[in-house]
Amino acid sequence: MKEKKNIAVYPGTFDPPTYGHLDIIKRASSIFDKVIISISADSVKNTTFSIKEREEMLRVITRELKNVEVTSFKGLLVNFLKNKKSRIIIRGLRAVSDFEYEFQLALTNRKLDNSIETVFFIPDETYTYLSSSLVKEIIRLNGNIDKLVPPIVKFYLEKKLKKTLDNYN
Ligand code: ADP
Repeated sequence: MKEKKNIAVYPGTFDPPTYGHLDIIKRASSIFDKVIISISADSVKNTTFSIKEREEMLRVITRELKNVEVTSFKGLLVNFLKNKKSRIIIRGLRAVSDFEYEFQLALTNRKLDNSIETVFFIPDETYTYLSSSLVKEIIRLNGNIDKLVPPIVKFYLEKKLKKTLDNYN
């Protein structure tokens, strides 16, 4: 019998990716045969980075993880999963505050497609307070983000920040 591969999809905004996201990606890649990180291109959120920039950052930080792939998707996540022959959605749970939204999302996706399961990973406790918006706030205030994001993300953040500051000169 042909062995079934477990392909999991990790959707998100990743604006920008942090060590918290990376922690989840590493845990997932050690369990599933393949992990597809997928940036939601239809997000209603106002993003700082383009899809291309976020893809580039995610590709660099996951370079060593051979079963991880980076892409983006438009439209319904459940349709994207079907295209990729996946039934597993990965999400991260940081604290109780994440629970209500994640619970609603997981049940909605199940309503849309009953064959889909959402699997939650809890990051190392160092990252439970960490979010993309917090990182952007710190860099805006000239704080040190070395422990929060990989070097390539810091580079992109500084590039973007510098551009914003230049606009005022
Ligand atoms: P979205 O807009 O889809 O919530 P995010 O990039 O903010 O996109 O988050 C994607 C997923 O990663 C969510 O499940 C979120 O809870 C999780 N996540 C974000 N930051 C962290 C972190 N520091 N630790 C663990 N999970 C995280």
